[in-house]
Amino acid sequence: MNPGAQQPAPANARPDIVNAFTVDVEDYFQVAAFAHRIDPAQWDALPCRVERNVEHILALLAGAGAKATFFTLGWIAQRHPQVVRAIVNQGHELASHGYAHQRASGQSEAELRDDLVRARKLLEDIAGEPVIGYRAPSFSIGRDNLWAHRVLAETGHRYSSSIYPVRHDHYGMPEAPRFAHRTPDGLTEIPASTVRVGQVNLPSSGGGYFRLLPYPVSRWSVSRINRRDGEPAVFYCHPWEVDPGQPRVPGVGAKARFRHYVNLSRTAGRIERLLRDFRWDRMDRVFARQIGLADDGPAEARVHDHVA
Ligand SMILES: [Zn+2]
Repeated sequence: MNPGAQQPAPANARPDIVNAFTVDVEDYFQVAAFAHRIDPAQWDALPCRVERNVEHILALLAGAGAKATFFTLGWIAQRHPQVVRAIVNQGHELASHGYAHQRASGQSEAELRDDLVRARKLLEDIAGEPVIGYRAPSFSIGRDNLWAHRVLAETGHRYSSSIYPVRHDHYGMPEAPRFAHRTPDGLTEIPASTVRVGQVNLPSSGGGYFRLLPYPVSRWSVSRINRRDGEPAVFYCHPWEVDPGQPRVPGVGAKARFRHYVNLSRTAGRIERLLRDFRWDRMDRVFARQIGLADDGPAEARVHDHVA
């Protein structure tokens, strides 16, 4: 192993800022890019990889002494309750990724409500603790369905991390605020992280970009959000991204294939570096004040928060 890789956090990090590490818990056959090839009715017949891959990510987090938020599909929780228990038992936050990975933007209000209620109940029954966070599959809350925030608030959620303030072919709301904000419905939206360059928001939260671009680009992005914006970054990854041995899905177009499979063998190592280079914690702790969870903390802390 290269001893240089063991160096502590880079000098440009802001050690006073704790960032949010998040995982979207779904299996490789549930990703939106493959939805046209694999019907949900086939999911049960496909070889599952999610349990071992979540274990791998849990081990990376444990190695770094970091906690994270796991946005988990109800479908996964139902079939693999031991995955949910492992997440909770190790002190991580359990949150919802909906039931069956339907884009929120493709659902009616009634469909979204049913999906949210079903997923949250499954997760809470297994975990034995409240679930307050939600991430829409494929960051599918945007200007055309901001009403989803009201439905989330009405179904017991306190925060959402479902808007990506970028221009992208499948999602995005470039004009949305870049950082945590309260919606008119009393929910807190915590967008995926972007880096502002000129008049443009560049995606810098993880996923395909984290795998495609060299690691120093990701490190620079988190540093820049911490130093220039003075805000925590929100990083996300998927269990299948640390699994180069996953079965290949046939009949997928070149673009989707490249986005899904590029650099899978490098992701775990990069996550290790990212965990070492910055401080990380669960969404509900990093954004406790913005979500409104910190109100009953010690009075001294409250005063400090208000002047900060
Ligand atoms: Zn997802």
